Amino acid sequence: MYGKTYSLVVPVYNEELVISESYKRLKQVMEQTDEEYEIIFVNDGSKDKTREKLEFICGEDECIRLINFSRNFGHQAAITAGMELSLGQAIIVIDADLQDPPEVILDMIRKWKDGYEVVYGKRAKREGETFFKKFTAKAFYRILGSMTNIEIPVDTGDFRLIDRKVCDALTSLPEKNRYVRGLVSWVGYKQTYVEFVRQERFAGETKYPLKKMIKLALDGITSFSYKPLVIGSYLGGLSFAAGLILLITDILKSFINNSKVLDLGLILSINLMMFGLIFCCIGIMGQYIARIFDESKARPLYIIDSKISKKELHEEYEISSGKQSNL
Ligand code: UDP
Ligand code: MG
Repeated sequence: MYGKTYSLVVPVYNEELVISESYKRLKQVMEQTDEEYEIIFVNDGSKDKTREKLEFICGEDECIRLINFSRNFGHQAAITAGMELSLGQAIIVIDADLQDPPEVILDMIRKWKDGYEVVYGKRAKREGETFFKKFTAKAFYRILGSMTNIEIPVDTGDFRLIDRKVCDALTSLPEKNRYVRGLVSWVGYKQTYVEFVRQERFAGETKYPLKKMIKLALDGITSFSYKPLVIGSYLGGLSFAAGLILLITDILKSFINNSKVLDLGLILSINLMMFGLIFCCIGIMGQYIARIFDESKARPLYIIDSKISKKELHEEYEISSGKQSNL
């Protein structure tokens, strides 16, 4: 049923400065396995020369498959597409920018051969990333951990090896706003990790601006925890109790001092704070409702513009040259 031993899934978005080097490094590592493999580059709607560069690589090497999305659908959609189209017995997801050292794949394969079905890369250290990125990532993984009942390993990204069984389980999950690293924990199976030092980006800039980071973080929390939804009821109870105490003390004070009940400034500031809390709670509900809305639309997670491999390129060439000779 499945033809290859290994499938590498590489999501790529505007990585023209990186892609030739990462192809070279990935190839070097995979050749050491002496087993069959494919490298699937999922071009997530790049606007630079990434597509042309990948098409060139595809024409040279039959181990390469290229999936072009019709636009940018996001990192998590790209990973999912790669998994869905993979043919390997073990699937390895790795970023294109060489922050995840390809050599670690060999350690992951060793653990897989020992019988583990998920081997995730745990970041022992992160090189060349801003203090802000490291701090927010660290804080997020811990907040998420405290909110969920399933154990999502801290300080891991999507760099991991999964067995075919796990891949099939993951791709059968229909949800749209995917937080793949959480879903991998959710599906279970025998899991372990290998530690690695996350490197500096080989070239170019991060393709995860703050907006995308926040979206991913919210997907993580809303997919795996209901806790934010119940915060509203706790806050409501708390503010009701505080309001009651304030009212009683103020009435008592006004009796004792013969002064007026509550002053306007105090009422205004309390009102503003309460409105703030109410809007926060509505916003939290909105995050969940928006995701229910996304699910109900049942649109596909991504749209593929083209699938390219050396074989297909050659067939295309033969067909077109055949046509020419018939003219
Ligand atoms: N990426 C993608 N689609 C996007 C954003 C990123 O396919 O919309 C790819 C990107 O090319 C890279 C990987 O996802 O291979 C991780 O992105 P990046 O390195 O920019 O994130 P960071 O490491 O800074 O968190
Ligand atoms: Mg990166």
